[in-house]
Amino acid sequence: MRPSSQNSSAPTQTVIARDHHTVSRRQISESALKVLRRLRDSGFDAYLVGGCIRDILLGHHPKDFDVATNATPEQVRGLFRNSRLIGRRFKLVHVQFGREIIEVATFRADHDSATKHQQTSKVSSSGRILRDNVYGNIEQDALRRDFTMNALYYTSADFSIHDYTNGLRDIKQRKIRLIGDPKTRYQEDPVRMLRAVRFAAKLDFTIEKATAAPIKELAPLLEDIPAARMFDEVLKLLQSGKGLKTFHLMQEYDLFRPLFPATDQALQQDPFYQRLIEQALSNTDERLRQQKPVTPAFLFATMLWGPLLACRKDIEDQGIPPIPALQQAMQVVLSNQANHISIPKRFSIPMREIWEQQDRLPRRHGKRSDQLLEHPRFRASYDFMLLREQAGEPLKELCDWWTEYQKLDEGDRKKMVQALSPGKNSRPRRRRRKSAPGPTTQ
Ligand code: ATP
Ligand code: MG
Repeated sequence: MRPSSQNSSAPTQTVIARDHHTVSRRQISESALKVLRRLRDSGFDAYLVGGCIRDILLGHHPKDFDVATNATPEQVRGLFRNSRLIGRRFKLVHVQFGREIIEVATFRADHDSATKHQQTSKVSSSGRILRDNVYGNIEQDALRRDFTMNALYYTSADFSIHDYTNGLRDIKQRKIRLIGDPKTRYQEDPVRMLRAVRFAAKLDFTIEKATAAPIKELAPLLEDIPAARMFDEVLKLLQSGKGLKTFHLMQEYDLFRPLFPATDQALQQDPFYQRLIEQALSNTDERLRQQKPVTPAFLFATMLWGPLLACRKDIEDQGIPPIPALQQAMQVVLSNQANHISIPKRFSIPMREIWEQQDRLPRRHGKRSDQLLEHPRFRASYDFMLLREQAGEPLKELCDWWTEYQKLDEGDRKKMVQALSPGKNSRPRRRRRKSAPGPTTQ
């Protein structure tokens, strides 16, 4: 151990030599090593930092590799033909190697020095950092990272790890600890509260006491986060393999309500929705484990099913018939949710289809079943119905019917439809009067 600075408020630097840690070159992508090498050959400092070092130390396979350097984004851009500048809130360089992207960030100064540079940094009235492009040295960079476990720097110059915040100790103790004063750090960026629960679930770590303490009180700050950023965060929270555990932690820390207020209300009113969401997340976790695809449309259709039914009922109570009531309710629920999380159209359109088809699945007479079966969203709608059944809706017969129906050839499918008793599932055919005026439906 050697102190890096005379300044008493500066962090203590610990250098862990190559023989004293478990990160080896073999666990690091060739592309990341190339980026480190070129930066160093050009006279800059360059380190691997963040999730990749944390994950290797924990024996996990890193998702991606992030580099921190004292070269400016423009200098980095100049060194790699295969690179581009991105970001506004944080300026970064992406260096592309085939499908792999190495993210290169310039060392940033901590928040205090950032506020002295009004041109390059911007802070909102609640203390949230809106822009943060003040460059600094490696110590300052370490201090502005979120958790100690994410602030370990690995250099391929001598394969050592540089630790400024006791991150290695916290990794060993499996603790999530914010760097600095937790309240201030959450105020600067409330998403850090979500990151704390995400990592707790993903890594099976505990959130250290002082880091956990202010979360419930500050959770409402998440309401101010731009809805587009929130969409990405929610996917990371709920669709990366530990969705169920993360959901429970979000509820425990009051972090669910600011993201999904209408869903939270439905959860208070009817325990069915808790089961529905838990079942969906547990199915999603299992699908990811089996490397099967998952879609945000299904996740969000589940999250907003309770609010949708409540809203539809309110509209129907005003005398509007079921089909237009559903259309209106979908509009209302999606636009309310957009104030918190913006769901791109490519997902909200299939969400609507999944919802609409829940009404169509029971209506199986004539050609309806085959038409539904051919619909590109049939599979998702069928899965959604199974989910509702799993969560306790009395849909067993209908689910079994559709499960069987899909397996059969055309002749046998016809027989299944003919065997349906004409009853509540079919509407009596309306005779069309020749001279009937007005619009016809269907
Ligand atoms: P993951 O495995 O989810 O990618 P990660 O730690 O790599 O985890 P990223 O979002 O890729 O997370 O961020 C890379 C690094 O940038 C983090 O390890 C952390 O050091 C820093 N960082 C990310 N988000 C924040 C934030 N909101 N505040 C401070 N530092 C952050
Ligand atoms: Mg990462």
